[in-house]
Amino acid sequence: MRFDLITIFPEFFTGPLDHGILRRARETGLVGVNVQDLREFTKDRHRSVDDRPFGGGEGMVLKPEPLFEAVESLLGCGVGDASKPGAADPKTAIVLMSAAGKLFRQETARRYAQLERIVLICGRYEGVDERVAEHLATEEISIGDFVLSGGELPAMVVVDAVTRLIPGALGNEASSQNESFSAIKQESTASGERAGQAPLPQPEAVNACGRTKPESAVTNYPLLDFPHYTRPAEYRGWGVPEVLIGGNHAEVAKWRRAAALEKTRRNRPDLA
Ligand code: SAH
Repeated sequence: MRFDLITIFPEFFTGPLDHGILRRARETGLVGVNVQDLREFTKDRHRSVDDRPFGGGEGMVLKPEPLFEAVESLLGCGVGDASKPGAADPKTAIVLMSAAGKLFRQETARRYAQLERIVLICGRYEGVDERVAEHLATEEISIGDFVLSGGELPAMVVVDAVTRLIPGALGNEASSQNESFSAIKQESTASGERAGQAPLPQPEAVNACGRTKPESAVTNYPLLDFPHYTRPAEYRGWGVPEVLIGGNHAEVAKWRRAAALEKTRRNRPDLA
């Protein structure tokens, strides 16, 4: 997977790309991330990327020319409607980060993880000339119902969420099958053993619904993750639920299923 991030603040990405799963995925070549300075595609002395809005009003708007030219240069072909690379090449997406876009969800991340290349356009100021959304981007995406000052953080959110779904990115630490929004939830089979410590009681590889039916028979809806606990078994008087310490795998699976449902109802009644 290759990501191209088009931004007026290339240095913004120095930290976020250099830690944990993302760092490892880049080091092992699982993903490549290219940060493209939009100003390289300006032609005037001031390297201006923005201009005042037609029709008046507050703030500045990112001009279309540098953005079209940046994407064309990255993809090595002409873009715009008829030859939109996303349309021509179903393995490439050109994503405009926008508070007015369609909501980015786990299913969007899963779809993106199947692609070969994602170009992410980071807006700034009042936003981006609409012709970019209409004729250049293949998708206009929002990361939530709030307004940020730029598309860099949203683009990072997309890079992170997609990368951890690429097979091999998570290593043995965790499984993306076993998380909030993964729809079909399964228990982790990781031992959780740490050097010099006795293993914690772990359930067998049974699904979180406590059923023995095959996956396809498990109700498919976006349940949030179940609550996790680790040592100490008692902290400041707050104990770990007894059932997790008991080592009865079927009971653990039942408890987790119920706790995940309870938490979903409490925090996200819209999903329950
Ligand atoms: N005037 C715009 C907000 C512009 S914020 C509006 O009211 O919708 C400047 C830039 O930040 C946007 O162009 C976009 O790239 C980015 N941005 C802000 N909020 C975002 C969000 N929730 N999701 C994705 N990108 C966002």
